[in-house]
Amino acid sequence: MKFTELGLDAGILRAVADQGYDTPTPIQAQAIPVVLAGRDLMAAAQTGTGKTAGFVLPMLQLFSQGGASTRRSKPRALVLAPTRELAIQVQESVRTYGKHLALRSTPIFGGVGLGPQTSALRAGVDIVVATPGRLLDHINQRNIDLSGIEILVLDEADRMLDMGFIRDIRKILALLPKKKQSLLFSATFSEEIRILATGLLDNPVTVEVARRNATAEGVTQCLYYVDRERKRDLLVRLIGDHNWHQVLVFTRTKHGADALAERLTKSGISAAALHGNKSQGQRTRALDDFKRLKTNVLVATDIAARGIDIDELPHVVNFDLPNVAEDYVHRIGRTGRAGSSGEATSLVCIDEHKLLRDIEKLLKREIEKRLLPGFEPDPSIKAEPIMKPRTARGARQATPAGKAHGTASRSAPPATKANHRAPSRGAHHSGSRHQ
Ligand code: AMP
Repeated sequence: MKFTELGLDAGILRAVADQGYDTPTPIQAQAIPVVLAGRDLMAAAQTGTGKTAGFVLPMLQLFSQGGASTRRSKPRALVLAPTRELAIQVQESVRTYGKHLALRSTPIFGGVGLGPQTSALRAGVDIVVATPGRLLDHINQRNIDLSGIEILVLDEADRMLDMGFIRDIRKILALLPKKKQSLLFSATFSEEIRILATGLLDNPVTVEVARRNATAEGVTQCLYYVDRERKRDLLVRLIGDHNWHQVLVFTRTKHGADALAERLTKSGISAAALHGNKSQGQRTRALDDFKRLKTNVLVATDIAARGIDIDELPHVVNFDLPNVAEDYVHRIGRTGRAGSSGEATSLVCIDEHKLLRDIEKLLKREIEKRLLPGFEPDPSIKAEPIMKPRTARGARQATPAGKAHGTASRSAPPATKANHRAPSRGAHHSGSRHQ
């Protein structure tokens, strides 16, 4: 099947072709006709499957038929996303695919001042892509009127629930018109997701694409056994030996990300860290530099890397194995996207053998094991327990509710303050998991 067979407007098709795409991915081929038919949709699809275009393209098509709305009109579509990175990326897709249409869109996320977003909303937009916490701020300040929403998208709904957004989402849903088209995208259909879907979706069509990365097609996986204290040296060696020029490296903690980025930089490798403690400006810059190959290595925690969308990212390194086996699948899903090949390398120390067994059990296969001469593990080193991450619940309880919701702490806090207080809902909750 080709994009030209989907009944999309010429302007949209041109924008798709400009991206170099002519064949829809399986989720696109299934979702686009359903959305165009006006049906509600429940889609099981992870990042990397092309899901974003799966809802953006038909949404643009539906709106392009009615003509662009006039200024000062209410938004017609609302996309809710768990993190600012994802919100920005989805809005970029809206802009990319909608570049030949007269539709306006804006991303709304925390960690930056309300002012520019308020101006954008008040000037009138058709499509709003928002993280739930910051959207509620704008709702409370009456900067946005959701009574004209025709299409609602919940993107990465499972992550939004994991991050504790359910109450915010329910508050937002209560403000939307009853009659609308709703699309729910989620990597998994947990009981919680099903409950949310039951209340929201009207006779939905369910589409499901193979969890591509569960079988990791297109991704070559291997691991090196190495001592915990020698991981940094080994990584420097691997990057140098193989001349890797674009590597996304995952660490378990924010501190570990900073320390590793610093160590790599000292070794003459251009590296930056990306995590929830960074200001929005720093994060955007780090991501841009990495995309443009100004920085060769981006060191990130799981949540910060969530939704990072880089075409043909060749290498992912698990500097630490994730505590949750499913996160391994999400991590390596950053490479080998949409048909291109990628390599996922893990550095595994004695403390992580149980995590490795869990991952291999989930993958239903063994990962190829390697030893690099000079980096063989010292058999006299004993396993030490891995620090357990705080649970989302624990972190929420630790923060007085008033503070988490207070606008003062979220209106462009200075960077240093942002380290300790919630710069945005997304970053705040992300701080509670695997950081
Ligand atoms: P997503 O799952 O939406 O995050 O998209 C994953 C990646 O696939 C992004 O880099 C898209 O630009 C890319 N992509 C989306 N649609 C297609 C397509 N039809 N063919 C090839 N690549 C695509």
